[in-house]
Amino acid sequence: MREKLDIIISGGTLLTMSKNADIVMNPRIGIRNGIIRSVDTGDIPRDQMSAAEIIDATDSVILPGLVNTHTHLPMVCFRGLADDLPLMEWLNSYIFPAEARYVDRPMVYYGSMLAIAEMILSGTTTFCDGYFYESSVAQAALEAGMRAVPCQGFIDFPTMDNPDQTKNRQIGRAFVEKWNGVSPLIIPAFFCHSPYTCSPATLTGIKELSRESGVLYLTHVAETREEVATIRNQYGTTPVRHLQNLGVLDEHTVAVHCNWLDDEEIAILARNGAKVSHNPESSMKLAAGIAPIPKMMNAGITVGLGTDGAASNNDLDLFTEMDTAAKIHKLRSMDPTVMDARTVVTMATIGGARLLGLDDRIGSVEVGKAADLIIIDMNKPHLTPMYNPYSHLVYAAAGSDVTTVIINGKIVMRDRKLLTIDIAEVMERVRKIAENIRNDRSP
Ligand SMILES: [Zn+2]
Repeated sequence: MREKLDIIISGGTLLTMSKNADIVMNPRIGIRNGIIRSVDTGDIPRDQMSAAEIIDATDSVILPGLVNTHTHLPMVCFRGLADDLPLMEWLNSYIFPAEARYVDRPMVYYGSMLAIAEMILSGTTTFCDGYFYESSVAQAALEAGMRAVPCQGFIDFPTMDNPDQTKNRQIGRAFVEKWNGVSPLIIPAFFCHSPYTCSPATLTGIKELSRESGVLYLTHVAETREEVATIRNQYGTTPVRHLQNLGVLDEHTVAVHCNWLDDEEIAILARNGAKVSHNPESSMKLAAGIAPIPKMMNAGITVGLGTDGAASNNDLDLFTEMDTAAKIHKLRSMDPTVMDARTVVTMATIGGARLLGLDDRIGSVEVGKAADLIIIDMNKPHLTPMYNPYSHLVYAAAGSDVTTVIINGKIVMRDRKLLTIDIAEVMERVRKIAENIRNDRSP
């Protein structure tokens, strides 16, 4: 007897992103209890399919959900507040003061919900975030049915949710205890802001705690030339060497940005198994630098794609990020063969899953994995004709071409309608938060 399934996706073109990068034409994907139960060619007549819901993916591409490996969701509330500035001025004169004044639990919760809506609408099914009041980010993800790696953040000055840095360990431990085992969707982790805002004691203390707790450890690294100069001044070496000297680089460490690395530092990351989150648009906008990603990938480093926060991007759309990632390295190297479309789609799916240590669960469409899938409508003028689906996804499609999003076997967007988020209410809440910010800034 045939298994009764929850969902069958039928038709279209499936890019599995599995090890063999299989493409299945006219597939039939069976989903039950959040898991992909079968992937085969759709030869069986439709009237013999049995599922509570059958999704017709004719003329569409089916892809594993995109993985955003680095962002600061609530910063959507500061989107467009301060643009066209260098990183340090942007941070010190605008972002840090605005955060000190306006960040509270409701801002983090509604900002996160808005950001999650934007991400689902553009095909992202998993994100990794670092911000203040991170439990409110996790709560928003849980309610929206979004897969998330929320990171408790650490920085060496008093913040609204951590006024006393001597309590870092307790705060970190409490965060992991609070979220471990709550839901398969929520995987807690730690984020040290950077080697220039965290002392060696903070960096090593939190790393030690992350090893004890078995959670991922992230930090911004070598984002700007100024940072490299600061670290050199303070510690007589470069950021990656500094982290290596402190013993915090291992396979559970994610270095975000890595725009300014020399060849030996790339080898250090590779040797230690550290992973890299690539956020090209944010680094372009802040003129922070261009990470030597092709060299890192040649060295065997796992690289995932990220958008960074919406105050420095200014959107959370991984489709535009893929387009940028594919093009910027071609221009930099003056070699159009680097970062081909398939490599970039890999980075945005299974690469991101690998970076987060979740590749046994997500990142490809394979039997036994969690059902995190997106369906992209290719029956559009700007996507006609289609010779190569990878090419279209990177160079021609937009986030708004995603029609259906499934996370952990649950449909969270159908025909571009969000099913788990009251988007009108969330937008209204965020507009109110912005109104306060705007009124305060007027003379
Ligand atoms: Zn960041």
